[in-house]
This record gives sequence, structure tokens and C-alpha cells, in this order.
Amino acid sequence: MAITKETVLQALSRVHAPDGPENIVTRGLVSEILVSANGDVIFALTADPARAAHMEPLRKAAEAAVKAIPGAGKVTVALTAERAGGHSHSHSHAPAAPKRTAGPRAIGVPGVKHIIAVASGKGGVGKSTVAVNLALGLVKLGLKVGILDADIYGPSMPKLLGINRRPELAAPNTKTLKPLERHGLKAMSMGFMVDEDTPMVWRGPMVMGALTQMLREVAWGDLDILVVDMPPGTGDVQLTISQQTPLAGAVVVSTPQDLALADARKGLAMFRKVEVPIFGIIENMSYFICGKCDERHEIFGHGGAKAEAKRLGVPFLGEIPLEAALRKHSDEGEPIVVSAPDSTSAKAFCAIAAQVWGEIEAGAGAPAAPRIIIED
Ligand code: ADP
Repeated sequence: MAITKETVLQALSRVHAPDGPENIVTRGLVSEILVSANGDVIFALTADPARAAHMEPLRKAAEAAVKAIPGAGKVTVALTAERAGGHSHSHSHAPAAPKRTAGPRAIGVPGVKHIIAVASGKGGVGKSTVAVNLALGLVKLGLKVGILDADIYGPSMPKLLGINRRPELAAPNTKTLKPLERHGLKAMSMGFMVDEDTPMVWRGPMVMGALTQMLREVAWGDLDILVVDMPPGTGDVQLTISQQTPLAGAVVVSTPQDLALADARKGLAMFRKVEVPIFGIIENMSYFICGKCDERHEIFGHGGAKAEAKRLGVPFLGEIPLEAALRKHSDEGEPIVVSAPDSTSAKAFCAIAAQVWGEIEAGAGAPAAPRIIIED
């Protein structure tokens, strides 16, 4: 028997909600449920942030109930801070993540349900590596995923995905290009159009023109999610992209070093300025996994990003180790999520993908704009 949304809902309706006679489904705690072709299931439970500790057993109970269904594959249950449904029974006093109320928003891309940005305060922190593995983690969840390499100064998708073809026109006499596909992921990059060795000099308006084309004049088809690999840094170009792309939210990649964290703070500030919700921070090159002894070495004062995320009030999405294998696979155009799915890094990327999707589903994200504090 194939597992379906209905069988999942049935199983979940046997899990009691806290404080009362209702179950978690009737209580409205369950987000939309996603069931992939191979039976993997993902959904989110709404957690009252004030009672997060009590929610963990409930999360486990929900997970166990679904795992018990015949045909169930990997079951991922995320806890999110915002109510999945519209109606609220919550007695929480914790502030809910505000809905975006900013002024004019960028127009959506037809067929593309959600667009998220992967950003970093500076280059070299592994932003593109994270973007591509996160996108492939989302593919593994059974989602239709695209990746747009907006890092037009140093496009890395050709190398990361091992693609060295030029895109074709979607139809004769159109300007629309077909994205290139690899590992079930649709990709577009300026690097597909020009030779890697050609130095490109871009001025701000040209950058926006090129990006708008890659966003809107590409036959993405129906996508659940489009991941935008942003150019590194937080200058005007990045700010404009964040403003003109209809972003559901952003993740910020950082390394543990303090300097990088200071840069990550700039990244967060940028998204807050344009009121894009922040899904959280990912710590890359978090600790070192020795290729010989397989041991974990915390060489960079690991944990900085987690503490910083807490201090800044944004979720910490996870940590990716510094792993020689990750670099090797990347250089060979075989991202680790597909080439070594059992590695620590691949598992971490998949867990992060599930968490990000859970947040998108729940329409959550940390408060985009800082709360206004009036001092007397
Ligand atoms: P950015 O996009 O931030 O400039 P890249 O994703 O291009 O960074 O990564 C820079 C280099 O670091 C690449 O050679 C990549 O393979 C390597 N790298 C990134 N993350 C890791 C990691 N966790 N472990 C090992 N090497 C990594």
C-alpha cells in the first residue's frame, strides 16, 4: 500500500495534542504534508516557543506514528514557531513572526512557488557549496527544485554541477532559455553562457539586467522552490537583488571565525533592511573531520555561529564539517549530497533542507524587521 497524505493524516489524528482532548490534526498543529515518490514524508508541527521543551516528545510521537505506516520512508518532522493554519488557539505570549507588510514587493515568477536566497557576508565561506547541496537536499525530499547562480562575478554552478554545455532556447524565436538539468536539479548560471576564463566586468545595472533575465526569461517550469545563490557580500548589488527578487526568505552561511560572523551580521542586517524573513544561519567548516581517523576536531572555536544566532534571535539551521571529501566531490562536479549521501556533511545538508522547507511551509522565518524599541 502506498503511503499518502491521507494515511499520514489518519496516523497523526491518533496523536493527542497537549492540554486538551483534541488531536494534533484537529488542533491545527500540522502543516501541509509532503509525501515523496519513495515514501519519504515531511511536515512541520507548530510549536509554542514558550513550551518548546514539551514539544520535542510530541514531535517524536508524531514521527513514530508516521514511521509505523507501511511504506513510510524517511520521516522528517520539523518544529516551527508559527501556526500553520490561520486560526490560533495559542495562549503564547511570545511574539509571532510578523507577516511581511513591506511596501511594493517584487513580482513573482509564474510557476515558481517559493524563492529563497543563500547569502554570505563575504566570499570563500562555502556559500555556493551550501546552496547546491541544500538544493539537492530539497530534491531528495521529492520537491521540484531550481538553482539560480546569481554570483555572476564568479559563477560556480558549472563546476559544482559538472555542467559544461550551453543552454538551448526553450522554443524557436523566443528569448527564453531552457535551464540545464543535473541530479534532478534545474540550473541557470551566467557561467553556462560565457567561458570560465573570460573576465567579466559588470556594472550595477548590467548585473540586475542579467539577473532579471535569468530569473524571468528561463523556462523554469513548475518549481516548488528556486534557490538563489547570491553574490558574496552585502553591497548595493546584493541589496538590490534582495529587493527585486520575490524572496520567501534567506539563509546566511558563515564560518566559525569571528570575522566571518561579523560579516554574517551584515548579511542579516541587509535582509532585515528589505524585510526578507531570515530562515537562519548555517555554520560551514564548523569542525574538522579527519580523513584518516574519522574523528571530529574542533579547530576553529566551533559553536560561534550557534551562539551568535541565538543572540541575534535567528534560528541556527545546522553545521557542516570541514571535510576533504566535500571539497573533492565539489571539484569533480559531484555534490556530496548525491555522491556520498551517507557522509556527515550530506546528512547535515539534508536535515537543513528539511528544516528550511518546514519553515517555508509554515510561512515562518525570524522577524524580518527588528522590533521597534522606544527609549525614554
Ligand atoms: P563561496 O561561494 O562562499 O565563495 P565556495 O562554495 O566556492 O565558497 O567554497 C570555497 C571553497 O571551499 C571550494 O573549494 C569548496 O569546495 C570548499 N568548501 C566549501 N565548504 C567546504 C567544507 N565544508 N569542507 C571542505 N571544503 C569546503
